[in-house]
Order: sequence, then C-alpha cells, then structure tokens
Amino acid sequence: MEFSSKLLENAVYEMSQLPGIGKRTALRLVLHLLRQPETQTQQLTKALGALREDIKFCTTCHSISDTDICDICSNPGRNREIICVVEDIRDVMAIESTGQFRGLYHVLGGKISPLDGIGPQELNISSLIEKVKSGEVQELIFALSATMEGDTTNFYMYKQLEGIDIKTSTIARGIGVNDELEYADEVTLGRSILNRIPFENALKSP
Ligand SMILES: [Zn+2]
Repeated sequence: MEFSSKLLENAVYEMSQLPGIGKRTALRLVLHLLRQPETQTQQLTKALGALREDIKFCTTCHSISDTDICDICSNPGRNREIICVVEDIRDVMAIESTGQFRGLYHVLGGKISPLDGIGPQELNISSLIEKVKSGEVQELIFALSATMEGDTTNFYMYKQLEGIDIKTSTIARGIGVNDELEYADEVTLGRSILNRIPFENALKSP
C-alpha cells in the first residue's frame, strides 16, 4: 500500500495491529475518523488512554474492574459458596446477561495452551486453589469453552483439587464443541449453567 502521507501510514499501521483488522479496513477506519469532527478522535484516544491508565483487576476474582474489588464480588446478595470459573471477562458478561447465576466468578485469564506458551503459572489458578482451601466455597463450576485447551485446563484444576472436599461441575454442553461461551445465546447458556453436571461424569464421556 502506497501512502502519500507518513502520518496517515502510521495511523493505518497502528490500527491494523488490532485483531481482525487488515490494512484496507484500517485505512477505511482512519479515513472515517478524519471525516468526523476532531473531538470524536480526541474522545476515542482519551477513553483508550484512561482505560490503560486507570483500569484495575479485581483482587478477588481477577475480572476487569474500576475498583480493587469488583461490583460482583462486593455485592452482599451474591452466593459466596459457588464460584464459576471462566477464561476472561467476556464470559462473565455472557453469563451475567443470562440472569441465571447468582454466585461469584473466578477469571483465569486464558486457558492452558502449551503451543502458545501458556502454562498453569501464567493463569490465575493458584489463587483459585487458595480460595477453595480457605473453606467458604462449596462448589466450582468449570465454564471454559469446549476445546482441547479448555478440557486440559479443567483437568489440571481438577487434579489440583484432589483431596479437597469440594463439589466440581461443568456446564452442560448445549454449547457445541469448539464454541466459545460468548457466542452462545443467552437461553442456551443459562440452561447449560442450570443443567450443569458433575465434573466426574464429564470425564467419563468420550
Ligand atoms: Zn471480583
């Protein structure tokens, strides 16, 4: 792509670093911004800058939060005995929108994927095990996507919990294999949480 302006080229390059944005789309977006009032671009850069500067991760569940303890963890109406284990905040948002879950969450920050260099140490697993050992939690729901990495992560956590008196379950698979949680419709996802099955049973199925 030949650019008549270095400024334009730089902006397109930075935009094209985003996932799913190729050079052509990046150019279209940048030109769109140029046609809009300057204040719109300023608001965009201000929002992104503030996001990076001020964002916090909840010290309890590791979800993205504006405060040290997120709104869900600090809500006295939530059931502290049941924790839903998810990959990232998109899953928290998807499950919250079903309105079917009143427990707490634990955000792992991804799933075990040796090919991508992500081992258990890169994820928030040890803090989960510590939380369980502290006693208040009665049940863990593994709500990771039904991929090989998701299964590996579930099994790793399950092994770490060996010898600890806790109920583990996994969400029922109305959600197809390889489907990411965030794409499941609310009714299906809500139902799969209500119809969760003991993790041991999931292990036996082929
Ligand atoms: Zn939290």
